[in-house]
Amino acid sequence: MASNGYRNGAHRGSSSMKLDRQLPPANLKSSSFKSRVLPSQSPGSALRRSSPASFAAKGNDGVPGRVRVAVRLRPRNVEELAADADFADCVELLPELKRLKLRKNNWDSDTYEFDEVLTEFASQKRVYEVVAKPVVESVLDGYNGTVMAYGQTGTGKTFTLGRLGEEDTSDRGIMVRSMEDIFADISPETDSVSVSYLQLYMETIQDLLDPANDNIPIVEDPKTGDVSVPGATIVEIRDQQSFMELLRIGEAHRIAANTKLNTESSRSHAILMVHVKRSVMGREDIISSENGDPPHLAKPFKPLVRKSKLVVVDLAGSERVHKSGSEGHMLEEAKSINLSLSALGKCINALAENSPHVPVRDSKLTRLLKDSFGGTARTSLIVTIGPSPRHRGETASTILFGQRAMKVENMLRIKEEFDYKSLSRRLEVQLDKLIAENERQQKAFEDEVERINVEAQNRVSEVETNFADALEKERLKCQMDYMESVKQLEEKLVFNQQKHDHDGFTDEKCILQVPRFSVSEEVVEIRKLLENETNLRKVAEEEVKNLRSQLGQHPPLAAGGDAEMLKLRKILEDETRQKKKLEEEIIILRSQLFQLSFEADQMKMCLDRGGTGNAFAGLDSSMSPVRHSQLKDSGNGQKASIATLFEQVGLQKILALLESEDANVRIHAVKVVANLAAEEANQKKIVEAGGLSSLLMLLRSFEDETVRRVAAGAIANLAMNEANQELIMTQGGISLLSMTAADAEDPQTLRMVAGAIANLCGNDKLQMKLRTEGGIKALLGIVRCGHPDVLSQVARGIANFAKCESRCSTQGTKSGRSLLIDDGALPWIVQNANSEAPPIRRHIELALCHLAQHEVNARDMISGGALWELVRISHDCSREDIKSLARRTLSSSPAFRSEMRRLRMEF
Ligand code: ADP
Ligand code: MG
Repeated sequence: MASNGYRNGAHRGSSSMKLDRQLPPANLKSSSFKSRVLPSQSPGSALRRSSPASFAAKGNDGVPGRVRVAVRLRPRNVEELAADADFADCVELLPELKRLKLRKNNWDSDTYEFDEVLTEFASQKRVYEVVAKPVVESVLDGYNGTVMAYGQTGTGKTFTLGRLGEEDTSDRGIMVRSMEDIFADISPETDSVSVSYLQLYMETIQDLLDPANDNIPIVEDPKTGDVSVPGATIVEIRDQQSFMELLRIGEAHRIAANTKLNTESSRSHAILMVHVKRSVMGREDIISSENGDPPHLAKPFKPLVRKSKLVVVDLAGSERVHKSGSEGHMLEEAKSINLSLSALGKCINALAENSPHVPVRDSKLTRLLKDSFGGTARTSLIVTIGPSPRHRGETASTILFGQRAMKVENMLRIKEEFDYKSLSRRLEVQLDKLIAENERQQKAFEDEVERINVEAQNRVSEVETNFADALEKERLKCQMDYMESVKQLEEKLVFNQQKHDHDGFTDEKCILQVPRFSVSEEVVEIRKLLENETNLRKVAEEEVKNLRSQLGQHPPLAAGGDAEMLKLRKILEDETRQKKKLEEEIIILRSQLFQLSFEADQMKMCLDRGGTGNAFAGLDSSMSPVRHSQLKDSGNGQKASIATLFEQVGLQKILALLESEDANVRIHAVKVVANLAAEEANQKKIVEAGGLSSLLMLLRSFEDETVRRVAAGAIANLAMNEANQELIMTQGGISLLSMTAADAEDPQTLRMVAGAIANLCGNDKLQMKLRTEGGIKALLGIVRCGHPDVLSQVARGIANFAKCESRCSTQGTKSGRSLLIDDGALPWIVQNANSEAPPIRRHIELALCHLAQHEVNARDMISGGALWELVRISHDCSREDIKSLARRTLSSSPAFRSEMRRLRMEF
């Protein structure tokens, strides 16, 4: 910052003073030819100086700020008005130019420039605002601040600083006004203000708030160099009144002390210290940059206490410096007063000249004011002068003192302290949290690593064992079964061929269904497949071996071995998949083998008996569409095969294959399931294992006639069981069967469907539901296929239904006309009552008898022509039981009897 200070005629200080260089001597013109100032020169262009605003400018943290100096002229007092009436003042003020002319004589004057020039008319308010207010504001912002008054006794130092203004409020001085501003700015809840009031006299510090305390030491912090007087009374004040009271007490004590010491207050320095403590929210940058802590420790709310100090110094009269001893003062006192003030002057000179040594330690005053000059405080100095030419010398020396002070640069520094206790508490809590969290994470991490390790080891060994076991077992079994089956098949084939050639007989149906030559071909094919499988298994075994050895080579898996572990795991998973696939293929092969064996047996039987070779045939005597009598008949081999299959492969796996992606697998699987379902003992197991749902699903997702046919057959077999019947109904089976009935063309499929529905028709509980869901209509729709086997199942269904209905009617759980008649079954019944196919005829005859037992059906039966059929049955049915049932029925029905009478029929 450029110094604006200069002294006319006596350039001082360094060449860096800008103003000096800016004033060319040739341009000088003034009232005094000695003057170097050019009065007409525009101050803005010639003199670069601070505006009042910049006088008041607040320094930033650690920025230099020059000591601001104002000069104040006291008005002439009464005495001076009288004595100096004929004389002009020794000074002439040019306040708008902030200059002061000090007359040397009538024709010569020196001009000085100050930061502020305050005339005799300047109000106390204005003085406060230009001199002290910026300092007070600074203090409120956290800087230390000093306001000093320097001048000859009687020039108005105390008036300027310490006036209480009790009589006239406009007289209030800087101390009072400062405190007013401080109180206006602070918040009483968080901030505090405390005050000490001291007097320095003869190098002794006295406590003006406690006069007994009269030798207070100055303490300097060895680290920070901060000066304090901890021995002094510090009174915390909360309002202006108590401060005023304190000032009064201090002043009273000062007078008393001076009386006691037989001296004047002008010989002592009065020092008011105002300590301001403010709570502020901390800033992260400060915390982070100052202590270098990691940023996460710097929370937005830092409990900071900002401490600052306002020092107001009413210095002893400056005349003592020059006049000590000459006016009869005691030598010691003069020395002492001299000491402090002259030390102050020396320090200011040294600072102004940028001297490396500043003799701060020379006096208590300079030690106390260490911060204020060349220290870290914002400092304002007001030099007071009187107008009297008689004191021209004093005035001149005062002005010079001020001029030198203007060159002193202070380094402003904000003083903030952490509220370390609360900060430390917070940090401790935070640290504990972090430690706990860290511990948790560490533990979790270790546990996880441990878990993964154990899991991986377990999985590796489990998969290894399982795989090896399964492979070995499968291989052995497969081989044995395979050898056995092939042997049997070949034997049978040879035998059959011989027999066939010998008989010269061919059953067309059999050939159609089981082509002889394909068996040996398929056997060859299967053998190939099995060889392939065996090879594949060998390869897989080899790979397992490899894996095992790899595993052996690897050290125990640690956290770092994750990638390796993942790789191994992936290989294992692939292996497991491969194994599953192999197992699936084995099951398929087995089921194929089974199927082939079964078909070969059928062929053999067909050749042996010349009977029907239909695997699902044999309806003539059974209520089941799919009989397993053939299975039983075909010898222990097949039965054993199924049992073996069941045991070895497991029902779940076979059922799972029903949902296989591979259509071929599905076909084989459904065949196996159908064959299993033919065994009564398996039916419950199949349903419990969810086989029914899978079979129904196959019906629903129709894509292959064979699948549909076999699935329907399996369902028909399951439908033999009463509990299963209800399950089929609840799982929507009847509508699926009806749907299949409606669009299937294949007689075998229709036969299976009709068989399944026929079985359901035999359940009393399901009558209504079956009819509502279109069961009867589905049966009647199936008759479009004229195949006798199909019609036989339809007839069986109708007979079953009629029988149940009859039973329900007898029991009273049903009333009204037969649902069969409602659904239009009667014409077909009548039409087929005399069918040439014995099973059809028999079922229909039974159905008619059941219907006729209830009078409510009589009218429809008569009009539909059923009566004639009943009469016929009662006459010539081959089965006696049916014949007699028909007779009983006819004789017990009034409607039939009357109709027969009407027709004059004999009964
Ligand atoms: P100092 O403290 O410098 O010895 P004082 O403040 O005691 O001087 O002032 C001496 C006298 O001058 C007092 O009576 C005071 O009221 C009066 N006085 C000082 N300055 C002014 C002023 N600016 N206006 C009016 N009276 C003043
Ligand atoms: Mg005074």
